[in-house]
Amino acid sequence: MRINLANIKKAKKLLNKSESVAIPTETVYGLAGNAYSDQACKKIFRLKKRPKNNPLIVHYYNIKNLAVDCDINDNFYKLYKKFCPGPITFILELKKKSKISKFVTNGKSTLAVRFPKHPVTRNLLKKLNFPLAAPSANISSKLSAVCSSDVKDEFGEKIKYILEGGRSSIGLESTIVDLRNKPKILRLGGLEISQIQKILKKKIIIIRSPQKITSPGQFKVHYSPDMPIRLNVKKNKTSEALLLIRKKKQNKPNYYYLSKKGDLKEAAKNLFSTLRKIKKSKYNSIAVSKIPNKGLGKTINDRLIRASKFK
Ligand code: AMP
Ligand code: MG
Repeated sequence: MRINLANIKKAKKLLNKSESVAIPTETVYGLAGNAYSDQACKKIFRLKKRPKNNPLIVHYYNIKNLAVDCDINDNFYKLYKKFCPGPITFILELKKKSKISKFVTNGKSTLAVRFPKHPVTRNLLKKLNFPLAAPSANISSKLSAVCSSDVKDEFGEKIKYILEGGRSSIGLESTIVDLRNKPKILRLGGLEISQIQKILKKKIIIIRSPQKITSPGQFKVHYSPDMPIRLNVKKNKTSEALLLIRKKKQNKPNYYYLSKKGDLKEAAKNLFSTLRKIKKSKYNSIAVSKIPNKGLGKTINDRLIRASKFK
């Protein structure tokens, strides 16, 4: 992708003034602000209508910049070397002298950090004197944005600038791993857990995994297209949009497929954009036919289960 330096300059200027700017990343678009500025961080929460107790992920250019704010441990170093920049977020201990705004963490002593791979955002991060707090660029609990027009759909004219970066190549949020003490997965995401386990050479427990949750009430509504979703549907109604993992030989007007041949990576990339397409269609409900619960399919199912909690 060609990098437009004038666009980056504009984003930098606004961020230096504690404004919010939408930025492209390989996972989903982020709504970014100076992570050292209370004013910038408060603005992000306000724009997203995000509950104050849901902390933000902070985006760094590299490990050297991170070391100013967080304590680094061996597991972090191993995973950083292998996967960064990339779709993995780490929970680390904050250093006492860190300048991270208390609004980022809601007063916690831990910080979620990530190193995005998108070349446009890397170029921007390199030029800034601060890291970027950036949750996903969507109204809280709604569908994530995977291109600049999705961000526009979410916020209209309320945000000052969207830095163009094309379509997010992964299309799902990062995998969050808590690296204090024993490693734990806090959110399934764009990096498969098996890959993390291979590097750490041990099995990692998953907190909040769909299989372990026994009551539907334990799910937070999230990633919602604002319409009912039925999962693992064998027989759909013609009045519902049918979400399929792969294209069928016989296509019908209400069929929406995530991948031509059932490739999970392609399906992941298309998930949020397809849900958004359905949201804009004449259909008012979605039936999802079974999606294999392996690899990235687990993340896709996690997002769909949470999205289906819409009432
Ligand atoms: P998003 O706002 O969509 O980018 O998602 C950010 C996710 O990171 C949310 O699920 C947050 O709860 C989680 N998160 C951020 N900071 C922390 C932290 N210090 N400890 C645990 N989870 C965190
Ligand atoms: Mg989000």
